[in-house]
Amino acid sequence: MSEAMSDGTRGSSESKGLLGGWFAIPLWQRVIAALILGAITGYIWGPGAESIKIVGDVFIDFIKMLIVPLIFFSIVAGVAAIGNLGKLGSVGWRAVLMFVLTGQVAVVLGLTLGTFFEPGVGVDTSMLEMGATPEPSPFDWREMLRSMIPVSPVGVMANVQVLPLIVFSLLVGIGILLARREEEKDGGKPGGAAAIARAFDSGALIFQKITIIVMELTPFGVFALIAWVVGTLGLDAVAALAKLVALNYAGCLLVIGLLYTGILALVARVQVAGFFRGMIDAIAVAYSTASSSATLPVTLRCTQRNLGVSKPTSSFVVSLGSTINMDGTAMYLGLVTLFGAQLFGVELSWADYFVVALLATIGSIGAAGIPGGGLVMMGAVFTAVGVPLETIAFVAGVDRIMDMMRTATNVTGDATVTVATASMLGEIDKSELASADDV
Ligand code: ASP
Repeated sequence: MSEAMSDGTRGSSESKGLLGGWFAIPLWQRVIAALILGAITGYIWGPGAESIKIVGDVFIDFIKMLIVPLIFFSIVAGVAAIGNLGKLGSVGWRAVLMFVLTGQVAVVLGLTLGTFFEPGVGVDTSMLEMGATPEPSPFDWREMLRSMIPVSPVGVMANVQVLPLIVFSLLVGIGILLARREEEKDGGKPGGAAAIARAFDSGALIFQKITIIVMELTPFGVFALIAWVVGTLGLDAVAALAKLVALNYAGCLLVIGLLYTGILALVARVQVAGFFRGMIDAIAVAYSTASSSATLPVTLRCTQRNLGVSKPTSSFVVSLGSTINMDGTAMYLGLVTLFGAQLFGVELSWADYFVVALLATIGSIGAAGIPGGGLVMMGAVFTAVGVPLETIAFVAGVDRIMDMMRTATNVTGDATVTVATASMLGEIDKSELASADDV
């Protein structure tokens, strides 16, 4: 497999020929080139561009294919990993609590931006030929409660029912945790449950790799989809997408500028400027690779060497954060769901807002720290509240540009929570952080 597929960003320089040349161009550059060319093609070709939409449909079908296995494996593996919290006690619980709270604030911010600035309003999508739209049913709490119960786990997976799938995955994770404890109590030797936990870890990794393969289709999908959107809807669509990108950047900057800065100044009581100077390498790597996982080694080095956090605390909190803490992604999932609802005229009730807030947080926990991780989770949130999956087709073209900022936010959030937890427990040498200020 080419390097492009192993890190999702850059192709193998050793591979030869046309294919080697293609993979030698970083994926994000190929995507942006496809975006521009696709928009020009659509503008010139007009409604006829619909004939190449099939290429985009295939791309989106592959994304849909990943929803169930990615959620299942990463949530089960995530819950099983939380089992190790016992080892670190107070550090773990504080970090998880902060991860969840910051995620919630981020989603609410995304929903607020989407409500006030209405990025999807004003585009006439009636010309678009759509697939079957999931029916949003009137809210009934009894129905909602029952629909969350995975009566038939296989049926839930076959029908891509996200809420009951999450409930089932959480239960499997908890089951593994409890079984593992029992095994440890009996003989102290890891048994079958520990092996299953490891298998889920590997399963999550395998599907992350498959996601990276699917992401290689992005340039083709993006070209076809943007040509279709611009060809059918004209420049209105471009304006709406530009607004969405701007709001994504504004939302991420607000999360960093208000939420993280507030936590650093008031909870961690450290020098905010010193923190950002110490983190600049990690933020730059996150922005350019669009992958929290790929940035992990740099984030670890920055938190330990420049921010003065003790090794055990930073290794634990930063690694956990890189998988379960994605505030940029959570904010975006809230924002893009409203975008899709506005675009296709789907009325969302208060109950739907609640479901979006919940699912965007869980989705950001379940999202893989790789380029496009959030794009896959989008389908899960949309399906739950009846927003057409065509929205993915709409935004896929500009996702990479937004992903870069989301990832920079996610990584900054991991470090913020690490510094705050370490401060609470006296696991940080603040003089290191002050000296980062003088660099
Ligand atoms: N690429 C992001 C990350 O690695 C996830 C996302 O797509 O939002 O953190």
